[in-house]
Amino acid sequence: MPASILDGNKIAAEIRAEAAAEVRAMTAAGARPGLAVILVGNNEASEIYVRGKVKACEELGIYSEKHTPPENVTTEELLALIDGLNRREEIDGILVQLPLPSQVDPKRVLLAVDPAKDVDGFHPMNVGFLSTQRPGLVPCTPAGIMEMLQRSRIKIARQEAVVVGRSDIVGKPMAMLLLNANATVTVCHSKTHDLPGVCRRADILVAAIGRAGMVTRDFVRQGATVIDVGMNRVTDAAEFTKLFAGNVRREETFRTKGSVLVGDVHPEVAEVAAAITPVPGGVGPLTIAMLMANTLKAAKMRRGKRVAELSRV
Ligand code: NDP
Repeated sequence: MPASILDGNKIAAEIRAEAAAEVRAMTAAGARPGLAVILVGNNEASEIYVRGKVKACEELGIYSEKHTPPENVTTEELLALIDGLNRREEIDGILVQLPLPSQVDPKRVLLAVDPAKDVDGFHPMNVGFLSTQRPGLVPCTPAGIMEMLQRSRIKIARQEAVVVGRSDIVGKPMAMLLLNANATVTVCHSKTHDLPGVCRRADILVAAIGRAGMVTRDFVRQGATVIDVGMNRVTDAAEFTKLFAGNVRREETFRTKGSVLVGDVHPEVAEVAAAITPVPGGVGPLTIAMLMANTLKAAKMRRGKRVAELSRV
């Protein structure tokens, strides 16, 4: 039986609708949540991501503002901008779109964001809160995956979870969240011995690698849940054919656009997994939905009891 599809668009819509209702209540109480996004220079992919984030704010009624320092901005100038945003009461979330240009020190910049406004959850203080199971802000992509698993009623406690990838943004926080939810967690990376064998232990397999279609059928145990975080643009015809030969819809996209968006998981995995996320339409939409949820959470945590009473934190 082919795997059931975990529909990220549907779950993201649920999360956004819940957040919109809370934003309306907070706004009525005079505490409209606000997000500031910093977009440095002219990175085309970053511009697309930021546009999506600002649009999501508009749809949910969250106040948003965009700051666009030039490509040659210095670390000091960015620190001054962040300091100003840290001090503003009506700004609940600050997001610095990565990557930053090479002359900027990203660690100093991310450290400068007030942890209470760190809606990406990258500040070491929020990383520490996550690993010690204290309330804090959690990185959006892994937080969205947990929402997807929980809302799809996929069992986590006592299950074997394998995360491929150990980045600060996805792999490590993903592993920590699964561990906190009582899974038995293994984290793999480029130096892991017998990667397919380790992955086959998984009841829940999360691929956050950045390599198109690398996770093939032999990585996956029959009946596993497979979460595909990868977003890879394939432009090479031979590589495309290896992944999607015979898929009429994808062939049409490749012919007209010259590229397709592909996950880290090979399409053949759908024949062995019990449940799988598609790319696109799986993890991607959840990331922005969780940014909205995090902005709301930051607003409620910062603005104290009066607003927290309006709805659950
Ligand atoms: P990074 O490049 O920071 O990390 C990739 C990880 O994969 C590293 O830990 C690396 O190991 C590991 N890896 C690379 N090659 C192999 C291999 N051959 N075998 C085993 N492990 C390997 O990427 P990110 O975590 O930032 O992102 C991962 C993917 O997820 C990308 O495709 C990215 O575009 C996508 N993404 C999608 C999001 C979404 O919203 N859907 C959000 C964020 C990311 P090592 O540490 O040893 O180098």
